Amino acid sequence: MRNAVKVLLTEEQIQKRVKDLAIDISRDYEGKSPILIGILRGSFVFLSDLIRQLSISPEIDFMSVSSYNNLTKSTGVVRILKDLERDISDENVVIIEDIVDSGLTLAYICRVLQARLPRSLKICALLDKRERREIDIKVDYVGFVIPNEFVVGYGLDLAQKYRNLPYVAVLDESEI
Ligand code: IMP
Repeated sequence: MRNAVKVLLTEEQIQKRVKDLAIDISRDYEGKSPILIGILRGSFVFLSDLIRQLSISPEIDFMSVSSYNNLTKSTGVVRILKDLERDISDENVVIIEDIVDSGLTLAYICRVLQARLPRSLKICALLDKRERREIDIKVDYVGFVIPNEFVVGYGLDLAQKYRNLPYVAVLDESEI
């Protein structure tokens, strides 16, 4: 890659942590078949690695929302671009997110999903930029707490690029 990046989480670190998260989720949902909801597009790499480490048999669905009107800052304006394909009432639901930043996107998604009366609703996020939080939200499964820097890779993008990197990296300031 031409641009300067600093690797924050290596492929090995991520894969090990994803396995640990899968163990936790498999234990908590033993004997159940939860619906894992991947929030597109950023979560697709994480979700696909995670489900292959689970010892339970989940269903998968996707939701797509737009939360960013400018490049790196949440505006709080969330729009559903693609909704779930199935009803989640009385189901155990786990939202799979790439990163929680301000928390505004997830708070909105949770409100929308709670209104559909799932039996339970939990959140699993690979990355947590905790110091940026603007709204109180409980993330049940967290991969890594990371500092307040804009990261790319492992599904995360900057203007739709870098999603394919197998690691998580911080971009050089001049790239943002
Ligand atoms: P929030 O509403 O501020 O929590 O933003 C959550 C969404 O913003 C994530 O699902 C990402 O799509 C995007 N996002 C937040 N921080 C980053 C980052 O550092 N890199 C790439 N995308 C990010």
